[in-house]
Amino acid sequence: MSTTTANELYPEVRSFLESGPLKGFVGGKELESTGGETFTTSDPGSGAQLAEVYSFQASDIDQAVDVADEAFKTAGWEQLPQNERSALLHRLADAVEKQKHIIAQLESLDAGKIEAQAQGDVQNFVDTIRYFADLAQNVQRRSILAVKNHEAWTMRQPWGACGFIFPWNFPFLLVGWGIAPALAAGNTVVIKPAEDTPLSTLYLARVAQEVGIPDGVINVVPGLGSVAGAALSANPKLQRMSFTGSPEVGRLIAESCGRNLVPVKLELGGKGAAVVFNDVDIPDTAEKLVNAITFHTGQVCCDATRWLIHKNIYDEFVGECIDRLKDVQVGYQLNDTSQMGPVVNAKQHQRVLSYLEKGQSEGAECLLEGGVAEVPGYEGYYVKPALMAGSLDNVAAREEIFGPVAYLAPFETEEQAIQMTNSTDYGLANSVWSSDLNRAARVAEVMCAGNSWINAHNVFAHGIPYAGIHKSGMGGGVLSIETLLDYWRSVSVVRPL
Ligand code: NAD
Repeated sequence: MSTTTANELYPEVRSFLESGPLKGFVGGKELESTGGETFTTSDPGSGAQLAEVYSFQASDIDQAVDVADEAFKTAGWEQLPQNERSALLHRLADAVEKQKHIIAQLESLDAGKIEAQAQGDVQNFVDTIRYFADLAQNVQRRSILAVKNHEAWTMRQPWGACGFIFPWNFPFLLVGWGIAPALAAGNTVVIKPAEDTPLSTLYLARVAQEVGIPDGVINVVPGLGSVAGAALSANPKLQRMSFTGSPEVGRLIAESCGRNLVPVKLELGGKGAAVVFNDVDIPDTAEKLVNAITFHTGQVCCDATRWLIHKNIYDEFVGECIDRLKDVQVGYQLNDTSQMGPVVNAKQHQRVLSYLEKGQSEGAECLLEGGVAEVPGYEGYYVKPALMAGSLDNVAAREEIFGPVAYLAPFETEEQAIQMTNSTDYGLANSVWSSDLNRAARVAEVMCAGNSWINAHNVFAHGIPYAGIHKSGMGGGVLSIETLLDYWRSVSVVRPL
């Protein structure tokens, strides 16, 4: 366990937290909830309360959507020439980058994320804004159609007010992935952050105003999922909706949007596999998969949580992984020696522990026990990494645990490995590990998910589409030109000759 002292809080972080109850941000102004309702956000690493936050009610949400809708029509954002809109987005990226340490520390405190990892997330946000700001300048919005006897063209136009609901695992990074293409295309946005992790998004709204993003273009509505989230997804004035979170809530969002015929995009959970053939470098592959499952304490939707290992190397591979997992430093997230922080809250803590129990009661073997981790001086939600093994019908192999737990099973043939990989309702991301790159490519193409990675796991780059299928998502994806095109509607203009 990691025991050195935690990094000092930056003065800006202290004063932001002390300025609570923190208000939402609508139409360029800080806003309280109608009846003064609040919720608290806490530090999962210590259990301490961080801040009180105004909890938006249905009427507050409707007001925010009205403001975003009005801003779309009147704030001039849509009418700005693309290069000016992109220049403003670059200004936002620059300002966020300048305050990276502040935003990352807020994120680290709120989400329990190791501070250095939070800095990586903030940098990723910056890069995402820059990527879409540049991409939007290079997309031709008017395309001539060569059709006999007609003068015709299509024109891409922004939709209007777009809603976004985000989860707690990558609060700031995901806001970037979500809103950057929408804003670059000229839309306005209403963002509902998760109630566990609202701080970095509330801070962002203030930075956006300082750099001159017009009022009403970026609105942030903090609140509970069942109240604020439900009201946002049911608002008929929204032109598009994007949800990232669990499949259970995703279904509710899709139902609400369906009733209003609002196009919806869902980025949901996963139960990814890593298929490890017997020609890999065993220590290197073990190291990379251990890093994947412990990264952000396993609270990563696309993680490799089912490890399918060729039977000839199974025992050696397991041994290498156990040695490494035993050495992982579990500790407070603002402590430089910590490698794995807490899970996000008591519910998630209980969820991880309960899957260890349920899995064993259905016959899984515990190769590495896991369980509660004690971190001296901190009353947080810490768990140890765990490895389970057995039949893939086991509950711990079928359902998303969202913690540092991998489920292992041996395979003999390539066909068997593919069948095992695809024996899930989810379809987000899998990886294949082999020094035979032809075999790796062959397997990668038939693994049934939105993303297949070769000799790596959790691979993202701006320009490569990332999306889920089946229970892992629908309606698009993120990080590529397709995402940007989603945020323009197409109008055909025709004159018969
Ligand atoms: P969640 O579904 O519980 O909550 C996500 C968001 O939905 C939160 O903002 C919450 O307040 C809101 N919400 C809750 N109930 C609602 C309702 N009735 N109506 C409208 N909104 C509501 O998910 P979570 O626990 O915050 O996040 C973990 C899940 O997110 C995991 O399943 C994970 O795999 C998934 N996830 C997916 C991706 C991806 O890109 N595919 C990325 C990150 C997380």
